[in-house]
Amino acid sequence: MWDASQDWSVVDGVGSGREGPRIAPNASSVALSNIESRFLNARREVGFVVDGQTGRILAVRRAQLGNGTEIRLSAHRDYPLMRNNIFTHNHPLGGNFSPGDVASALGSGVAEFRAFSATRTLSIRFETPPDKLLGSPERAVLFMDAEKAAIGARYRSDVSTGSIVPPADPIAKKVFLSDYFMDQLVARNSWIKYISTPHN
Ligand SMILES: [Zn+2]
Repeated sequence: MWDASQDWSVVDGVGSGREGPRIAPNASSVALSNIESRFLNARREVGFVVDGQTGRILAVRRAQLGNGTEIRLSAHRDYPLMRNNIFTHNHPLGGNFSPGDVASALGSGVAEFRAFSATRTLSIRFETPPDKLLGSPERAVLFMDAEKAAIGARYRSDVSTGSIVPPADPIAKKVFLSDYFMDQLVARNSWIKYISTPHN
Protein backbone atom coordinates (compact mmCIF):
# COMPACT_ATOMS: atom_id res chain seq x y z
CA MET A 1 0.00 0.00 0.00
CA TRP A 2 1.03 3.54 -0.68
CA ASP A 3 1.05 5.29 2.63
CA ALA A 4 1.21 9.03 2.23
CA SER A 5 1.73 9.49 5.93
CA GLN A 6 5.06 7.74 5.83
CA ASP A 7 8.17 9.76 6.08
CA TRP A 8 9.80 9.43 2.72
CA SER A 9 12.38 11.19 3.62
CA VAL A 10 19.10 16.01 2.12
CA VAL A 11 22.84 18.15 2.04
CA ASP A 12 25.80 19.83 0.84
CA GLY A 13 24.95 22.05 -2.07
CA VAL A 14 27.18 24.86 -1.06
CA GLY A 15 29.57 24.27 -3.91
CA SER A 16 28.82 25.66 -7.37
CA GLY A 17 28.57 22.23 -8.98
CA ARG A 18 30.93 23.37 -11.72
CA GLU A 19 34.31 21.88 -12.37
CA GLY A 20 37.25 23.76 -11.06
CA PRO A 21 38.86 24.61 -7.77
CA ARG A 22 36.75 23.90 -4.71
CA ILE A 23 35.51 27.01 -3.00
CA ALA A 24 36.49 27.38 0.64
CA PRO A 25 33.78 26.25 3.10
CA ASN A 26 31.60 29.18 4.00
CA ALA A 27 29.91 29.93 7.29
CA SER A 28 26.73 28.03 6.52
CA SER A 29 28.50 24.86 5.38
CA VAL A 30 30.56 24.86 8.60
CA ALA A 31 27.38 25.28 10.66
CA LEU A 32 25.67 22.47 8.75
CA SER A 33 28.52 20.01 9.24
CA ASN A 34 28.60 20.84 12.98
CA ILE A 35 24.87 20.25 13.34
CA GLU A 36 24.79 17.13 11.21
CA SER A 37 27.73 15.44 12.91
CA ARG A 38 26.30 16.18 16.34
CA PHE A 39 22.82 14.80 15.65
CA LEU A 40 23.85 11.91 13.38
CA ASN A 41 22.54 9.23 15.73
CA ALA A 42 19.65 11.09 17.37
CA ARG A 43 16.60 8.87 17.75
CA ARG A 44 14.01 11.58 17.25
CA GLU A 45 13.86 14.08 14.47
CA VAL A 46 15.31 17.50 15.12
CA GLY A 47 15.42 20.22 12.48
CA PHE A 48 17.37 23.47 12.10
CA VAL A 49 16.76 26.54 10.00
CA VAL A 50 20.22 27.89 9.16
CA ASP A 51 20.93 31.33 7.70
CA GLY A 52 22.33 30.70 4.23
CA GLN A 53 24.86 33.51 4.53
CA THR A 54 26.02 33.62 8.14
CA GLY A 55 25.36 30.05 9.26
CA ARG A 56 23.44 31.30 12.28
CA ILE A 57 20.75 28.92 13.59
CA LEU A 58 17.45 30.75 13.19
CA ALA A 59 15.14 28.08 14.63
CA VAL A 60 15.19 24.56 16.11
CA ARG A 61 12.21 22.23 15.67
CA ARG A 62 11.77 18.87 17.39
CA ALA A 63 9.35 16.03 16.76
CA GLN A 64 6.57 16.18 19.34
CA LEU A 65 6.21 13.33 21.83
CA GLY A 66 3.40 11.00 20.82
CA ASN A 67 3.61 12.16 17.24
CA GLY A 68 5.96 9.53 15.92
CA THR A 69 9.37 10.74 15.00
CA GLU A 70 8.47 13.38 12.45
CA ILE A 71 8.85 17.13 12.65
CA ARG A 72 5.81 19.07 11.52
CA LEU A 73 6.78 22.35 9.91
CA SER A 74 4.28 25.20 10.00
CA ALA A 75 3.66 27.34 6.93
CA HIS A 76 2.77 30.21 9.23
CA ARG A 77 5.57 29.95 11.77
CA ASP A 78 8.43 28.22 9.94
CA TYR A 79 8.21 28.98 6.21
CA PRO A 80 9.07 32.70 6.50
CA LEU A 81 12.27 31.77 8.34
CA MET A 82 13.12 29.04 5.85
CA ARG A 83 12.65 31.20 2.76
CA ASN A 84 15.99 31.60 0.92
CA ASN A 85 17.78 29.89 3.82
CA ILE A 86 18.74 26.26 4.57
CA PHE A 87 16.82 23.63 6.49
CA THR A 88 18.42 20.42 7.74
CA HIS A 89 17.03 17.58 9.82
CA ASN A 90 17.88 14.01 10.77
CA HIS A 91 16.05 10.89 9.65
CA PRO A 92 16.53 8.37 12.46
CA LEU A 93 15.56 5.37 10.30
CA GLY A 94 17.77 6.43 7.39
CA GLY A 95 14.91 6.98 4.92
CA ASN A 96 14.85 9.39 2.03
CA PHE A 97 12.80 12.61 1.83
CA SER A 98 9.08 12.30 2.48
CA PRO A 99 6.50 13.87 0.15
CA GLY A 100 5.84 16.20 3.09
CA ASP A 101 9.52 17.17 3.15
CA VAL A 102 9.45 18.07 -0.54
CA ALA A 103 6.17 19.98 -0.13
CA SER A 104 7.71 21.95 2.76
CA ALA A 105 10.83 22.67 0.72
CA LEU A 106 8.80 23.93 -2.24
CA GLY A 107 6.16 25.74 -0.21
CA SER A 108 8.64 27.58 1.96
CA GLY A 109 10.92 28.69 -0.86
CA VAL A 110 13.93 27.31 1.02
CA ALA A 111 17.27 27.55 -0.83
CA GLU A 112 18.32 24.03 0.20
CA PHE A 113 16.53 21.29 2.12
CA ARG A 114 18.62 18.54 3.69
CA ALA A 115 18.17 15.30 5.61
CA PHE A 116 20.91 13.23 7.19
CA SER A 117 21.32 9.88 8.88
CA ALA A 118 24.21 7.71 10.00
CA THR A 119 24.58 6.38 6.45
CA ARG A 120 24.02 9.36 4.14
CA THR A 121 23.28 13.04 3.65
CA LEU A 122 20.60 14.10 1.20
CA SER A 123 19.98 17.50 -0.43
CA ILE A 124 17.41 19.06 -2.70
CA ARG A 125 17.40 22.43 -4.42
CA PHE A 126 15.10 23.72 -7.13
CA GLU A 127 16.12 25.10 -10.48
CA THR A 128 13.34 27.04 -12.24
CA PRO A 129 10.33 25.08 -10.91
CA PRO A 130 7.11 25.44 -12.94
CA ASP A 131 3.86 27.17 -12.04
CA LYS A 132 5.18 29.48 -9.33
CA LEU A 133 5.50 26.47 -7.06
CA LEU A 134 8.38 27.86 -5.06
CA GLY A 135 7.14 29.80 -2.04
CA SER A 136 3.49 28.83 -2.53
CA PRO A 137 2.43 26.33 0.16
CA GLU A 138 -0.97 25.59 -1.39
CA ARG A 139 0.42 24.95 -4.87
CA ALA A 140 3.22 22.86 -3.40
CA VAL A 141 0.76 20.58 -1.58
CA LEU A 142 -1.42 20.16 -4.68
CA PHE A 143 1.64 19.43 -6.79
CA MET A 144 2.92 16.80 -4.36
CA ASP A 145 -0.53 15.20 -4.08
CA ALA A 146 -0.54 14.71 -7.84
CA GLU A 147 3.02 13.34 -7.79
CA LYS A 148 2.12 10.92 -4.97
CA ALA A 149 -0.86 9.64 -6.97
CA ALA A 150 1.18 9.15 -10.14
CA ILE A 151 4.15 7.57 -8.39
CA GLY A 152 1.84 5.40 -6.27
CA ALA A 153 0.20 4.04 -9.44
CA ARG A 154 3.62 3.33 -10.91
CA TYR A 155 4.68 1.63 -7.70
CA ARG A 156 1.67 -0.68 -7.66
CA SER A 157 2.28 -1.54 -11.29
CA ASP A 158 5.98 -2.22 -10.68
CA VAL A 159 5.12 -4.48 -7.74
CA SER A 160 2.44 -6.37 -9.66
CA THR A 161 4.76 -7.06 -12.61
CA GLY A 162 7.52 -8.09 -10.26
CA SER A 163 9.93 -5.48 -11.58
CA ILE A 164 10.49 -4.35 -8.01
CA VAL A 165 10.32 -6.48 -4.87
CA PRO A 166 10.01 -4.47 -1.67
CA PRO A 167 11.75 -5.96 1.37
CA ALA A 168 9.58 -7.74 3.95
CA ASP A 169 11.16 -6.07 6.97
CA PRO A 170 8.99 -3.02 7.85
CA ILE A 171 11.84 -0.59 8.41
CA ALA A 172 13.76 -1.75 5.35
CA LYS A 173 10.53 -1.45 3.35
CA LYS A 174 9.97 2.09 4.55
CA VAL A 175 13.47 3.10 3.43
CA PHE A 176 12.96 1.26 0.13
CA LEU A 177 9.66 3.08 -0.50
CA SER A 178 11.19 6.45 0.29
CA ASP A 179 14.07 5.79 -2.13
CA TYR A 180 11.65 4.61 -4.82
CA PHE A 181 9.56 7.74 -4.35
CA MET A 182 12.51 10.12 -4.68
CA ASP A 183 13.95 8.24 -7.67
CA GLN A 184 10.63 8.57 -9.46
CA LEU A 185 10.05 12.18 -8.39
CA VAL A 186 13.45 13.32 -9.64
CA ALA A 187 13.05 11.35 -12.90
CA ARG A 188 9.70 13.07 -13.48
CA ASN A 189 10.90 16.59 -12.54
CA SER A 190 14.35 17.44 -13.84
CA TRP A 191 14.25 20.86 -12.10
CA ILE A 192 14.58 19.09 -8.74
CA LYS A 193 18.32 18.93 -8.04
CA TYR A 194 18.85 15.98 -5.75
CA ILE A 195 22.16 14.86 -4.25
CA SER A 196 22.70 11.82 -2.06
CA THR A 197 26.10 11.62 -0.38
CA PRO A 198 26.90 8.31 1.32
CA HIS A 199 28.99 8.48 4.49
CA ASN A 200 32.17 6.48 4.44
ZN1 LIG B 1 12.10 14.40 6.74
